[in-house]
Amino acid sequence: MSFWTRFLNNKEKSIKPWNGLINGYRDLLDIDNKTKVITLCEGNTPLVPAPAIAQACNVAGLSVYLKFEGANPSGSFKDRGMTMAVTKAIAKGLRTMICASTGNTSASAAAYTACARANGFETACCVVLVPDGYIALGKLAQALVYGSQVIQVAGNFDQALQIVRQLSEKHPIALVNSVNPDRIEGQKTAAFEVCDQLGRAPDILTIPVGNAGNISAYWAGFKQYYELGIINAKPKMCGFQAAGAAPIVKGEVVENPETIATAIRIGNPASWQMAAEAVQESYGLVEAVTDEEIIQAYKLIHAGQGICCEPASAASVAGLIKMAQQGRLQRESTVVCVLTGNGLKDPQTALDVSGFSPVKAEASMEAVAKALNLG
Ligand SMILES: *Cc1c(COP(=O)(O)O)cnc(C)c1O
Repeated sequence: MSFWTRFLNNKEKSIKPWNGLINGYRDLLDIDNKTKVITLCEGNTPLVPAPAIAQACNVAGLSVYLKFEGANPSGSFKDRGMTMAVTKAIAKGLRTMICASTGNTSASAAAYTACARANGFETACCVVLVPDGYIALGKLAQALVYGSQVIQVAGNFDQALQIVRQLSEKHPIALVNSVNPDRIEGQKTAAFEVCDQLGRAPDILTIPVGNAGNISAYWAGFKQYYELGIINAKPKMCGFQAAGAAPIVKGEVVENPETIATAIRIGNPASWQMAAEAVQESYGLVEAVTDEEIIQAYKLIHAGQGICCEPASAASVAGLIKMAQQGRLQRESTVVCVLTGNGLKDPQTALDVSGFSPVKAEASMEAVAKALNLG
């Protein structure tokens, strides 16, 4: 039988319909059947084997996978929490969404609010507060073009979060930051997917930590799968902060967080306590990686693996490599590094680290051959 005959006869098509993570994992989530779901078909993101990163770790039998969350509709894992948060807010009758953001939360909130408008809630609108001057251009562009109202606050993320918390207490406005438990509920599906894709839980999960919602959400997801008997072991949760924005590592609030990884430039994480519990219960760790280590990992993920992620995302791989160098990885272990967002959001960093200097040539075959030293 030819490939095509087999393919056309195959009742179990290899591409299955996917209608977003609420529909995909409904039985495991806090949502009833009547609620109208606001979805952009997020989730079901690739888990990509990463031999180049395993090799850089130089540990016998190590398997490394990258959970590429940049493949979500607005380009980051924030979409997982946002489908749930906006769905629930709309169901409660709220029509205005608000958030503070280092960029991706605002892009995602703006996208899902537009999706709500498209699905019969024409008055839905979104307000986002971003720290002035510290947001990757692509993210700001997204928030604007998805039609949200953007306010640049002359302050940092932590201050912006304080303001939106106060506003949402005083007014009928849905706060869609990760302090909203619906966000965590949606985000835990990433842990379900990792287990479904691997056929087991990884031994170690490495993940960047900013406001600390995501590490908490993954842990909630792994625990739920464990309690249901779907997996028989849970991973160690290994979180990584940028050295200039590492409050959990230092054990104190950082007043002026600084890092090239703007998505984790946070000095007072809202989910600090939950993240600390996740790390403790899983025998994991939270440590810092320098901007230099982040950039090294960022280059390796791109040129070595062909995957485009944000600087903040690269903290998970930088952390893994650091653990390997310190001899803290066991042979034969299986690691998943979470790549939280898509590198296309921040082309400036990509150009800065590559040195933008293309070779110039006249428009002739000879000139290009000469430039290539083809003789
Ligand atoms: C939001 C974000 C993070 C940090 O996640 P937290 O849940 O705030 O810890 C990391 N990377 C990217 C790309 C993000 O957008």
